[in-house]
Amino acid sequence: MADDKKLTTRASDFSAWYNEVVLRAELADYSPVRGCMVIRPDGYGIWERMQRTLDDMFKATGHRNAYFPLFIPESFLHKEAQHVKGFAPETAVVTHGGGKKLEEPLVVRPTSETIIYAMFAKWVQSYRDLPLLINQWANVVRWEMRTRLFLRTLEFLWQEGHTAHATHDEAEEEARKILGLYRDFMEGWMAMPVVTGQKTEAEKFAGALRTYSCEAMMQDNKALQAGTSHNLGQNFAKAFDLKFQSESGDEEYAWNTSWGVSTRLVGGLVMTHGDDNGLRIPPLLAPTEVVIVPIWRKEEERSRVMEAADRVCRDISNWERRDPNALRVRVDTRENLKPGAKYYEWELRGVPIRMELGPRDLDANQGVLVRRDTRAKQSVSLDAIAEEIETVLETMQDDMLSAARDRREQNSHRGAVSYEQFKELMEGDGAFVYAGWCDGEKCEAQIKEETKATIRCLPDEEFRSAEAPSRCLLCNADATTEALWAKAY
Ligand SMILES: [Zn+2]
Repeated sequence: MADDKKLTTRASDFSAWYNEVVLRAELADYSPVRGCMVIRPDGYGIWERMQRTLDDMFKATGHRNAYFPLFIPESFLHKEAQHVKGFAPETAVVTHGGGKKLEEPLVVRPTSETIIYAMFAKWVQSYRDLPLLINQWANVVRWEMRTRLFLRTLEFLWQEGHTAHATHDEAEEEARKILGLYRDFMEGWMAMPVVTGQKTEAEKFAGALRTYSCEAMMQDNKALQAGTSHNLGQNFAKAFDLKFQSESGDEEYAWNTSWGVSTRLVGGLVMTHGDDNGLRIPPLLAPTEVVIVPIWRKEEERSRVMEAADRVCRDISNWERRDPNALRVRVDTRENLKPGAKYYEWELRGVPIRMELGPRDLDANQGVLVRRDTRAKQSVSLDAIAEEIETVLETMQDDMLSAARDRREQNSHRGAVSYEQFKELMEGDGAFVYAGWCDGEKCEAQIKEETKATIRCLPDEEFRSAEAPSRCLLCNADATTEALWAKAY
């Protein structure tokens, strides 16, 4: 059981609060290897639900899963110049196997573009073989210096989509389609609103033509890059000789996209929704949606309450029918803990609904539901309990998204902002700042140097300000575009 010392508050130290929630809600633990993490069942349960939902969404849009090896010949990484520049510094390299020095060192995949497009080149001959729409669920390794549980670890779990198309426009459509799919997932399931847009040249993926991203605001007003989708152009196709015969009989290079989200999303969920009592999990991703806490004082009440709790659990979870949409319910039958201690623990673990069931409730044929997000209580008749719970869960899911969106908007700044004001904002509470940019890499780099804030994206139209900013935030020259600035994880 988690100990009952109070959590550090978010206001006093957000970063300490985050680590305590992850450890005490038993989502993950530190591993014996620096920078790696062990994902515990409660954390893995959230990831599994994310994975299942996304997998269904990928398949519904025509993608199929495959699996490629963990090891990549080192020479592959060097075939695309930008790609090797971006990833070589953080690769782990295997030089020995079976006690012998390898002829060619093997890179432990930091991402799989190179090995996947080398295989695509074997499989694609004609335009009839396109589009090729593949996804893989895998682990990758990036030798990061500074690590944080879920947010940045040496090894992490993710999915990486890789596609090949006959034309630039089809690849572009795919990259944008996936960005929209990610957004639907993050908002619909995670209740985490995101700003979508394009990365600048300095921030785009190593080897891509264009990178698009979903940027979410955490409760410390920093941005979390929650997912990216890349139009790779023909860069990798040229490096790996991925050609096809077009309808008119010409030989052409294919156009590729790649896109991914990772276990980082679990960290994003914690930092979007957690409060000073612990985790709050949006119902759709909660491994347990309802926990029933039976309450009794006298021994003779015990069996009556326990039986009722079991019956309610069976009724609402429909477990005999094995309905995949059945509610995920458990009864806390532990006898060594008082109800108050159980409430505290389930709040820390973020279970969306707690149902209290005692002898007096049973006399009145009711149960008491307590929402984790608002802590609001209501008594509900046991005859309609499943329907009531469904309604509360749906309301919670929507309320959590609106609350997160309101918080983001309250901490977003639009309209004329001077560079002095901007610096104060970034040194203070932080913010999302929508400001003009001259398109100059010098201004971008200098702002990053001086404030640690970066251009998170050039926001898509629906996120841009009603009145486009006219001047660059730093140099005051004419702005060519609107940029979203923030400090980021
Ligand atoms: Zn400028």
